[in-house]
Amino acid sequence: MSELKACPFCGTNKIEIEVEGNFSWGECHVCGATSEAHRQYSDFNIEQRKEGASEKWNTRPIEDALRSEVTKLTDQRRWHQYTEGDKSTYPPFEDWYLVTNENDDLLQEFFSFEVGWKTNKNIIGWAYQPEPVESEGE
Ligand SMILES: [Zn+2]
Repeated sequence: MSELKACPFCGTNKIEIEVEGNFSWGECHVCGATSEAHRQYSDFNIEQRKEGASEKWNTRPIEDALRSEVTKLTDQRRWHQYTEGDKSTYPPFEDWYLVTNENDDLLQEFFSFEVGWKTNKNIIGWAYQPEPVESEGE
């Protein structure tokens, strides 16, 4: 059986898969939250029924979307190390970026795949630029 995720409501790991007749479901033994019931024919064995129920308990489309968004936003606001000649450290798009060098200068530079940075200031890191300031009333 797959490892069960913590309860999305109370956070506990005290989750059990219950089986009754052709139905099985995940149930939190602290707050009582349950997953959607999983129905299988009686010729499936208990382990197969529990597997179906644990998949339902572990299905979290909203939580997965939020985690993905948090990962994306965290990645967008951190500094990325840059090493000249190492393409794995290059920005993903040709665009303007905030960049820094060994003197901790903070600059705005354009990156292009053909030329790299247009400056000769030994760039060691880049970050996405924040969204422009929105004026009120828009
Ligand atoms: Zn709970």
